[in-house]
Formats: sequence, C-alpha cells, structure tokens
Amino acid sequence: MLDYVGGVLHCDGMDLVTLTSDLGAKGITTPYFLYSEGQIRDNANGYLSEIPSDLRDRIVVGYALKANPNPEILGVLRRAGMGAETVSGSEVRLARREGFPPLLIMYNGNGKEIWEILYAVKEGCLMNIDSLFDAARIARACDELATPASLLLRVKANLPQPDSVHSHGTAAGSKCGVELDDVEEVIPPLLARWAMRRRKIPRKKNFPLQSRSIQILELIKRHPLMNLVGLHSHLGSTITDPSTLVENFRFLAGLGEKLRADGWTNLDTLNLGGGPAIDYRRDGSTHAPPPCDLMRHVVSALREAAFPWRLWLEPGRSIVGNAAVLVTRVLGTKGNAKRKQFLVADAAMTDFLRPCLPGTYHHISPVVQSRHEKHPRINVQILIFFLTKHRPSQESDEMDVVGGVCESSDAMGRNRRLPRSLPEGSLLAVWDAGAYGIVFGSNYNLRPRPAEVMVSGRGWKVIRRRETFDDLVRLYDKCD
Ligand SMILES: *Cc1c(COP(=O)(O)O)cnc(C)c1O
Repeated sequence: MLDYVGGVLHCDGMDLVTLTSDLGAKGITTPYFLYSEGQIRDNANGYLSEIPSDLRDRIVVGYALKANPNPEILGVLRRAGMGAETVSGSEVRLARREGFPPLLIMYNGNGKEIWEILYAVKEGCLMNIDSLFDAARIARACDELATPASLLLRVKANLPQPDSVHSHGTAAGSKCGVELDDVEEVIPPLLARWAMRRRKIPRKKNFPLQSRSIQILELIKRHPLMNLVGLHSHLGSTITDPSTLVENFRFLAGLGEKLRADGWTNLDTLNLGGGPAIDYRRDGSTHAPPPCDLMRHVVSALREAAFPWRLWLEPGRSIVGNAAVLVTRVLGTKGNAKRKQFLVADAAMTDFLRPCLPGTYHHISPVVQSRHEKHPRINVQILIFFLTKHRPSQESDEMDVVGGVCESSDAMGRNRRLPRSLPEGSLLAVWDAGAYGIVFGSNYNLRPRPAEVMVSGRGWKVIRRRETFDDLVRLYDKCD
C-alpha cells in the first residue's frame, strides 16, 4: 500500500524519505520506480479469491506482461496463481524462464514472426490466430516441428467501444483480430441465416463464401496439427463497467455455441481479454471496477451459460498500475513571461512517458506534505477568503511539473496545485506508475533509464538497476 502516514508518503510501512536516502547511500539516485509487493498481491487476489473452488481449474487470470514484465513482479504473480498473457516471443520466453507452465501462457499477436510462432509451438503455449496469414504461418510452424498447437481465434466483438486512450479491440478499423461478419460467414448455413435475420441483411448474389474466416477455419479443419480450442476478444483499455466484460462473454459464448454445433467440439475456452480501468485521477471520477466486482459478474455469467466454458482473463494495468510511484526530486522552479510557473524535476518523459501523452493524467504529490497541505484545503481557502476577501492567487500555486528534455510534451503534469515552497531537493511522487511505466522508457537525450525498487515484507530490494553510461554506449562498441 502506498499512503500517507503522519504527512509522509509510506510504501508498505516504509517512509519514502528514509528509503530514498538509504537508496542514495547505495548509489541509487532519483528518479526511481517504487513498487509495493503487498499492493500487487492484493490486486491479484482481488481477481483470484473470487473464483469459487469448483471453478478453479476452469478460470485462468493471465497477467498481461506488457504492462510490466519485471521478473520479480512475475514471480509474485506466478506464486499467487496467475497465468501469463504475452504479445511477443521474448515475453513468451520470459514467462517460461520465470516458471509459468505452457498451458498458463497465452501468446497473442497481430504480427508474429516465424521464430516467435516456432518457439510458442515448441513450448506448447496457447496461441491466438489473428488473421489468415497468421493462421498460414502457424500451420507452417506446426508442420516444421511436427508438433500440434492449441489455438484461439481472435475475433472483433461487435460491442460498443470502451471510452479510452488506448482502445483498439473492437473498432471496425482495428488491426487486431478477425471481423465478426467474417466469422459469422464461416458457419453456413446456420449462422449466416442467423446473422442475416438479426441484421436484416439481404442475401447478396455474390455472398463472399471465400471470406478470410472461412479460409482460416478450413485451413484449421484440414490441418492435422492445428487444434481450435477457443475464441478470444480483447475489447481494449480502459473498461469502467463490469457489464462490458459480461457482454463480451455472452458474445463469445453465443459464437462458441454455434461453432460447437457446427462440429468444432474441441472449442471450450473463451478469452475475454483485459482492460479494466484504474482511477488515475484518484478522486473517484473514473469508475475503476474493483477486480472482485468484475470477477463476481463474470463468474455468474459463466454459471448461467449453457456450456461449461473455460475462461481466460488478461488484466495488466489493474494488477500493477496503482502499485507503484515514480519518485523524483525537485531541481528548481522557474517562471516565464506569462507568469507561468515551472517546477523542474529530475524525472522526464524518458523515465515515464505515459503522463506526457495526450489525454492522460497522473496524480502528483509531495512525498512530505506541508502543514498547509495537511489541513483540508477547503478550510484554508475559506479562511483566506474571509481574511482577505479574495480567493488565494491561483498562479502562484499552479505549476507545470516538467523534466529536463527539450520537448514541449515533457511534462508529468500541467497546472497542478502544489505547495508554493518546494525547495530544491524536495521529493515528489508521480502516482500509478506501475503499468506502462518503465516499459515506455527511452534513452533519448542519452538519459539512463531509472531503477526499479520493490518494498516486500519489511525490506526493500532493487529489482532493476539504473542504467549507467557504460550501458548506454555498450551497443555502439565492437559492432563488427
Ligand atoms: C494489452 C492487452 C491486455 C492487457 O490490457 P490492460 O489494459 O493492461 O488490462 C490484455 N490482452 C491483450 C490482447 C492486450 O493486448
């Protein structure tokens, strides 16, 4: 847990001022990402503890490694009982290295390279089929290895798009997955009739019998080593309503039942994807559905279904997002001609890109709250109003928190109300930095990427060291 105790930010009971100075004594400087193992475990258990014991071997919660693939985090989640959702050959390799069993690894990708497919097939992981060419390449890999593969067909659910920055799962123009209409066409005549009845589409003379999905399913049917075990639909990020996942389940279950009736009897798995939102503003304005709430909805939909489906979920952000802060130090303040105040910190977009992207917001607070901050703000404002008959000056308290990269987007936060006097060396926390944080780091400006530190039990450990100058230049040396 990351929270304030006596006006000082603590991580699982350790105060960040002491922790930062202990780290500094060992040469680990700001900025650094600080994770709470307890919070990661709580988030995972929010999902896992809601799985009733009779459904335990039918539901897999696979952590989406792309949110943060730190091996220490993977260890915590594997021991908690999670699976792994991967989107590259290297992620599959890392999941195997960290001890995830092959059948708890799902490999999703819309542009898999042949070595990645070969590796996943050889290891016996589950894999999605994203397109016709993907299916053809998977077939080639199975042939080459003379090894069977258990596959899920990724489809685009015809559901409303969740409101978010990074959604990509359902939009008609999305590059991921196979169109619903294509899939409906693959189970003629039953489903085609069903689809046309529902949508009142007049049967066209040139009904495209050779649609991509027909070809995919025909390819699988003909291929002795390709085994279609499920359907996959990832709606995108960031889902705020549990019923969105339930609708996704019902959509996949409906399609799955029709495919089963058409002879695809190995099909028993539905993968609902990931995407639950977190409350980045930390003011309750984003409804972040608690994992246990999501699970309850999904479990009751599963119980109502006609067929005893196996279920996959693939949360990333909601497992690690709120479990970390980026700790950064104030270098100084400055203003410009328009009386705008800038607070310059030692963290920049190269350390944590997400807050600098359009449409994002990450809460920023001082690690040590001033006395002013400790009192409820409204009381202070009312007091000042009565004393001065003026509202407190906005300009002096509102500032942009910026980094040292010469790019106008290099700001962790804009127009933030922060204490007027934050002297050089003060520590700030940028919240909800656990997901899509360190992974988007870069070496732009030849800046080394920050360290990652985890508080676990009563101690802390460095779980990724800060890059050094030698790390930065190593790849330029001995190139031939
Ligand atoms: C990114 C991704 C996820 C995880 O999304 P979150 O928003 O981090 O929960 C799950 N499945 C697939 C296929 C993804 O691409």
